[in-house]
Amino acid sequence: MPQLHEHLMPIFEEIVRRNAGEPEFHQAAREVLESLGPVVDRPGGLVDADLIRRLCEPERQIIFRVPWVDDAGRVQVNRGFRVEFNSALGPYKGGLRFHPSVNVGIVKFLGFEQIFKNALTGLPIGGGKGGSDFDPKGKSDGEVMRFCQSFMTELYRHIGEYTDVPAGDIGVGGREIGYLFGQYKRITNRYESGVLTGKGIGWGGSLVRTESTGYGAVFFANEMLRTTGDSFDGKRVVVSGSGNVATYAIEKVHQLGGTVVAVSDSSGYVVDEKGIDLELLKEVKQVRRARINEYADERGGAAYVAGGSIWDVQADIALPAATQNELDEDGAIALIRGGVRVVSEGANMPTTPAAIRSLREAGVKFAPGKAANAGGVATSALEMQQNASRDSWSFEYTEERLEGIMRSIHDRCLETADEYGVPGDYVAGANIAGFMRVADAMLAFGVI
Ligand code: NDP
Repeated sequence: MPQLHEHLMPIFEEIVRRNAGEPEFHQAAREVLESLGPVVDRPGGLVDADLIRRLCEPERQIIFRVPWVDDAGRVQVNRGFRVEFNSALGPYKGGLRFHPSVNVGIVKFLGFEQIFKNALTGLPIGGGKGGSDFDPKGKSDGEVMRFCQSFMTELYRHIGEYTDVPAGDIGVGGREIGYLFGQYKRITNRYESGVLTGKGIGWGGSLVRTESTGYGAVFFANEMLRTTGDSFDGKRVVVSGSGNVATYAIEKVHQLGGTVVAVSDSSGYVVDEKGIDLELLKEVKQVRRARINEYADERGGAAYVAGGSIWDVQADIALPAATQNELDEDGAIALIRGGVRVVSEGANMPTTPAAIRSLREAGVKFAPGKAANAGGVATSALEMQQNASRDSWSFEYTEERLEGIMRSIHDRCLETADEYGVPGDYVAGANIAGFMRVADAMLAFGVI
């Protein structure tokens, strides 16, 4: 594990001590702190203002009870979270995750990452994240609706278009955002479009928002390929997950001439040498809300592997797009053995620190999620702009804006990495560039 700067080590130790039992938050914080050594020594008052320690403490954390009644008439109780981490650059912005693994540490790691990601977009948005340990899997529409209504009955007090603007994440898609927005509107008696993003197109949503995270991760990888005059054309690509991010990453890879040969869910993975049939995948995952093995059952020539590691499938490019720490050291070694050249994170922190080290040592270009998956939140900010001006933009125009934003994030990461003497290091470039933008604003505001 790389050493931390002497100013940063006590800060990290304090994070571990004061946030006990939150390993994902420790991991996310450590990864950022490891990059910040070179900025600590620069003149400008960071140390005197104790800015980094302040940045690692959320501005506000909300934990609440979410009671609801299931279809059998039984009372269920879940726990809701919103961590409003940093509002130096704008209202807190970040998704809601509904998954049984959600706890305050997971939400805190996601909120922390979100600060730097949002700063990198260059748009006026702070960082936050939320969610619940509610599991939408296997629930009826009515149960999901009652849960969402109960969740919003508390959350509405803490959010608003100038305060905190949630969106979707794992387990929260268009259906859930609809129920959440409906309840917010009902309780507040305000049609406040800018309070949530990821809305339906007919009621304040933005074209391209659904596709934006997956498209953005592929645009980012395309920029990485371009630095050596390469492209997606003719490449074999593996994409983990089969949810929102994975689905639209596959769509864009195919549009750019690559072939996605494997996808997964939490039960196993599918190998389809002909290239994933996106229409069938959408039918299985989005319409039927079924498991990925149904895709293999219905697609001639595709094979389903229960459990196992999708990273065993040979690929030129890998796009982890499922969940945190899904690509471990063994997975990285398998990818390297298969000749992988680029790894671009569609998910948040899907690659473990040991796996990142292995990829780097093998000369694989690696893009961290806070840069590569920023297309989702960037398009959310474009949705907020459209809401504020009561406008709606075309698909082509919005996608062009997204592509431009991804290109500028890519370039900013590389330029910053060059400036700080670590050329080609996208992790350091993203962390330092995101940090500097937030730090400048926080310094301007004084000690608050
Ligand atoms: P979805 O809920 O749409 O899909 C998640 C996918 O990941 C599902 O296929 C799910 O499978 C799979 N998955 C979850 N846990 C595991 C696991 N332990 N092993 C293998 N597969 C798993 O979520 P999203 O696509 O929205 O989010 C995916 C990632 O992208 C998350 O890390 C999220 O934070 C990140 N992200 C999402 C953004 C967005 O705009 N949606 C924006 C930026 C980042 P199963 O159905 O079996 O659970």
